[in-house]
Amino acid sequence: MANTDLVARLLGGDRRALARVVTLIENGAPETRTILAELHAHGGRAHIVGFTGSPGAGKSTLVTQLARELRKRNLRLAVVAVDPTSPFTGGAILGDRIRMQELAGDPNVFIRSMASRGNLGGLAAATRDVVRALDAAGFDLVIIETVGAGQAEVEIVRAAQTVVVVTVPGMGDDIQAIKAGILEIADIFVVNKADRPGADQTVAELRMLLSLDAQRNERAWRVPILKTSAATGEGVPELADKLAAHLASLKETGQLASRSGRQARSEMLALLHQALLERIAVTISAEEWNRLIDEVVEREKDPYTAAAELARRVGLADAAPAEA
Ligand code: GDP
Repeated sequence: MANTDLVARLLGGDRRALARVVTLIENGAPETRTILAELHAHGGRAHIVGFTGSPGAGKSTLVTQLARELRKRNLRLAVVAVDPTSPFTGGAILGDRIRMQELAGDPNVFIRSMASRGNLGGLAAATRDVVRALDAAGFDLVIIETVGAGQAEVEIVRAAQTVVVVTVPGMGDDIQAIKAGILEIADIFVVNKADRPGADQTVAELRMLLSLDAQRNERAWRVPILKTSAATGEGVPELADKLAAHLASLKETGQLASRSGRQARSEMLALLHQALLERIAVTISAEEWNRLIDEVVEREKDPYTAAAELARRVGLADAAPAEA
């Protein structure tokens, strides 16, 4: 299939074309850049929602329930399940989970899992690209679900407009996750497994933690803490409501535009960084590196002068000289 054909078919709602584009992105195929460049103009309509939280918190079950609820509301949605810890891809771990199967047959639901294989620019960049394709394909919501709550996951869900952090009663481990920067990125907290004892206490603990965040207290959006039971579906309609409310708030306060601006900037910086690394890789040979390294280690040359030399070699003509 020619690329222009692929783009046209994807925009026309062809699922096979969409699946093909996602695979190209996953494999880091060289033609994805042109495809994504064309798709960019057609995006900007989907609400992009990220789910993160400790493994076993019930994210996958909750996302499945949420998907059902969103379908009741006649919304079309895509779920990208991302696993930075797994070298495998193709959906064996997340996308093919049995409970997702019923949704997989629905033409208005697209489910795909991704892992770290072959993505030169990293999984976060590949996820962003997949989201771009799904957005262009016209889904109302694109949900990014991560397996855990580590640094890699945080980086991945940062690309979302609304970040949902899922925790469970008796936080323990989750307190650690919250320390690791999750508190700052949460737009909505969910205490899942609320059918278990201790949910109210966890809600109270979270509320306390949030109240200590002075920066957040100045913002227009008050982070809600919802109780859900993904096992029964309790609290899921409220979660769907809050997602919509958060998007509305982002739009009203102009934050949607500023978040988009920040993301566009960080995406361009990441691409620029990658381009520079690629230029370095093709320009500077291993021998040259070794010679410079030896010279610096033997103190025949200082690292500033060496770096300035390298900068000139990769085309940064007026790179700062050593004495600057
Ligand atoms: P994930 O790793 O965060 O995606 O968690 P899963 O969705 O795989 O759920 C982990 C386990 O918790 C599974 O056995 C689920 O059936 C169970 N689970 C999920 N949600 C609930 C809930 O609300 N209540 C209870 N009791 N169990 C749940």
